[in-house]
Amino acid sequence: MFKISKSDYVLGVKCPNALWFKKYRKDLQVDMNQAILDRGMEIGILAQSRFPGGTTITAKPWEAVAVQQTQSAIRAGAPYIYEATLATDTGEYCAADILRNNNDGTWDIIEVKSTTRPHDYHIIDASFQRYVFTRCGVKIKNCFILTLNPEYVRYGALDIDELFALHDVTEELQDPDSVQAEVARIRAILAGPELGIAISKTKCNKFYECGYKAHCWHSVPKYSVFDAFRGALADEIYAAYGANLADIPAAMRDQQMHPGDIEAFLDNMDVINPDILRDFTARLKWPLYFLDYESIMPAVPMFDNSRPYQQICFQFSLHVQREPGGALEHYEYLHADAGTDPRPGLIKRLIEITGDTGSVVVYNQGFEQGRNSEMASDFPEYADALQAINNRMVDLLMPFRNRGLYRPCQCGSASIKQTLPAFVPEMSYANLGIHNGTEASEQFLAFMTGKQTPAQTAAMMANLSEYCGQDTMAMVRLLDVVQGFLNK
Ligand code: SF4
Repeated sequence: MFKISKSDYVLGVKCPNALWFKKYRKDLQVDMNQAILDRGMEIGILAQSRFPGGTTITAKPWEAVAVQQTQSAIRAGAPYIYEATLATDTGEYCAADILRNNNDGTWDIIEVKSTTRPHDYHIIDASFQRYVFTRCGVKIKNCFILTLNPEYVRYGALDIDELFALHDVTEELQDPDSVQAEVARIRAILAGPELGIAISKTKCNKFYECGYKAHCWHSVPKYSVFDAFRGALADEIYAAYGANLADIPAAMRDQQMHPGDIEAFLDNMDVINPDILRDFTARLKWPLYFLDYESIMPAVPMFDNSRPYQQICFQFSLHVQREPGGALEHYEYLHADAGTDPRPGLIKRLIEITGDTGSVVVYNQGFEQGRNSEMASDFPEYADALQAINNRMVDLLMPFRNRGLYRPCQCGSASIKQTLPAFVPEMSYANLGIHNGTEASEQFLAFMTGKQTPAQTAAMMANLSEYCGQDTMAMVRLLDVVQGFLNK
């Protein structure tokens, strides 16, 4: 008899292949992101304090003793049971984050999630839990998803009641017959041979990006129909013609996301549109300030005047060029005081060195402009100065996104991680100690929460400085490229 956990169930609903791989192809397993796992654990424990006085089931959900501990706590009438675990006689089992005693013979399931709203797969998860608990003779009255409350703004000590939001999802759950039918389907899949792989842009990215993509998608070309076309349309084209762009009818190219990309790829030709480049450079006003932020997104707000998952800027790099062809000056702010709010120091330094005139050049304006608007709102004393910086912003992404310049090796993307190697191949992120914004964020958050050794912190600071500096230097070089094409 196969044991089926709630994560097996959710995986089976998403994709039978994924569940089959989980059971039989341990060699394909990808490690979960430890930072995400740690965050889930921390939020789970914090959530328990919103429902205090409960009994914790200490055994692991797959151990029989967990069920015995849970049954004992239910019999004892515990007000709350944390990690309440039950298993059916047919092998389905689950641990509910919190089981709440309604003191009328019924219980509520409260599932804690580290998101700011319930997602579809949370409903599937809760449906399975209700099914298991009901099959085990526990009367479940309501099911809730407890998420972080995106409206909560911290001032002083954490307000645990306000930090979380309780969502009643009882009416949205799959009915028990549907769950039972799904369990039977999953059991049949697990009892059978490996399934033929059927990849799909929508399915493989549904709920979250599937961890088996490296295996299932290994024969998909680096640039394929999945890159050139949007979700469901990409799936239709793939089903009819395969992933290779050379195999699709020419008429289909009319529906590509960025006209001209497929033709550039098939002909191995650069796209150059001088009008777009000229429109962009005409907007530049000297001196130029090339600006890039790095940020953390603490799930639980760490500072006054911040919300769950708010982007908190902790670093900027600024390259300044005062006249065309002039020497570059470099400035930086990197917060070094763990546990304190980086924003006031960063704002002050930024305002000091960005002057009153000249364009502030960023790559993907929505990010830097959005952070400035938030900081203006959270620190009104700097609102005018931050708004003035926003008013001076120009977005270097635009001439690349609008295909003023495009190279086939960008594979449909205008992100700086694609445009830089395409146009400035001697500059690379590959040899840096930090390779992308996610790594920067995770490492700095570890520093801020006291999870680094002094040696780790020293190395991280040096790596962050190099990484963020490279982002602004990349903008300098990409603008040189744009101007170089115009001067040809
Ligand atoms: S990559 Fe796609 S097809 Fe493969 S297991 Fe994941 S969801 Fe299923």
